[in-house]
Amino acid sequence: MVVAGFMEREMTCAECKKAVTSRFHGVYNMTCLKCCARLVVSARPHKLHQEAMLQAIEGFKQSPSRPDILACIKQNFSQNRAQRLV
Ligand SMILES: [Zn+2]
Repeated sequence: MVVAGFMEREMTCAECKKAVTSRFHGVYNMTCLKCCARLVVSARPHKLHQEAMLQAIEGFKQSPSRPDILACIKQNFSQNRAQRLV
């Protein structure tokens, strides 16, 4: 679900900024699309674990939708493994 101001929030997410300098930064903002994508990617290569992450994210009220997260993973973390999620 895309809400007004979502992109703005995404651009200003402090956890994403930290993740740029620390590849394994372990704090995730569940309302941030890129954070959700990072969280799912962090579960690699365990597909069941990734699925669990996606379900956990879906449990948050203002979290991005699963198709958005998967699209973001493809865009920002494009490796062959991303294909398996779809
Ligand atoms: Zn973020």
